Amino acid sequence: MIITVKKNFTDLLAQTAERDKIFIVGCAGCATKCSTGNEAAISELTGKFAQNGRTVNGFAVLDTACDIRIAKKDLGKNKSFLDSTVIVALTCGAGIQAIEKITDLKILAGLDGLFVGTTERIGVYNQYCSTCGQCIVDKTAGICPVTRCSKGLINGPCGGFINGKCEVDPEKDCAWVLIYEKLKKTDSEYKIKETYLPPRNIVKPKNIIKNK
Ligand code: SF4
Ligand code: SF4
Repeated sequence: MIITVKKNFTDLLAQTAERDKIFIVGCAGCATKCSTGNEAAISELTGKFAQNGRTVNGFAVLDTACDIRIAKKDLGKNKSFLDSTVIVALTCGAGIQAIEKITDLKILAGLDGLFVGTTERIGVYNQYCSTCGQCIVDKTAGICPVTRCSKGLINGPCGGFINGKCEVDPEKDCAWVLIYEKLKKTDSEYKIKETYLPPRNIVKPKNIIKNK
């Protein structure tokens, strides 16, 4: 999922200085899973705005804020939304840009989008995918070397690991040691020294491609 963290409230307060009616949009997808865009987060933000003399006009938690159709359906006829003077989006950047499509109101980002990652528990996330455009984890035991190897090597290891830790960041497990250990368990035929992954075409489309 898209990992998000809350932005600094003081900055949001400053940005809403001239705006008297704030509408907060959350997201029931990733931002709810991160507890950054759920009703509790909206309620906390509403309370902070109220303490500082700002009026929150209303709120909505969209099913998936990044879906323009849902943003349109849920906000397009929402009177509080339409009557507001500024929107604070507790969504990832894709969510903000879906909302932007359906309104000319000023939109503020309430969250910072960090990366595509996995969750260990709320607040502890791992970046495990860089959306590189050509996934190879089927060949690397389900572990992404593009993201998890400090050098992004798709043929590794580099030879610098020490006791299974990365030479660049000793706090981190060497991704290629993890891959090798996992491959030994899952693919007895795999010979890491004899296997070569060719360069990838990682030119990514900038917009829609149809999934066939
Ligand atoms: S190989 Fe590319 S698409 Fe696959 S997990 Fe890694 S970064 Fe993501
Ligand atoms: S030690 Fe391992 S994770 Fe670190 S750069 Fe080398 S191959 Fe990549």
